[in-house]
Amino acid sequence: MPSAAAIVAHWAPSLVSMGHFATEKDVNSHCFACKNGCRAPDRAHIISLGDGGGNELENLHLLCRPCHLASEYMSTDRYWEWFGSRDAREGAVIFTADSLLDK
Ligand SMILES: [Zn+2]
Repeated sequence: MPSAAAIVAHWAPSLVSMGHFATEKDVNSHCFACKNGCRAPDRAHIISLGDGGGNELENLHLLCRPCHLASEYMSTDRYWEWFGSRDAREGAVIFTADSLLDK
């Protein structure tokens, strides 16, 4: 499984060019989908393993826990549709709860 840093390096240019993030620096330590800050995001498959996806960089995104759970059963087109519509507010509530647990 590639490291989180390798996944960021692979995806940052395209996430910026699709307008999802303003700069490549913003991609680091943020959930790719909801864009909330996330120190240890999950590595999530775009094409699920069950649908024949693998552990290549092209098939991995970094997602916060709420986004990973929300996208768990989505694959490919459905995933990208969800990804494009994901909003920071959707991850915010649970992210706040996570932050409280860290203290
Ligand atoms: Zn998220």
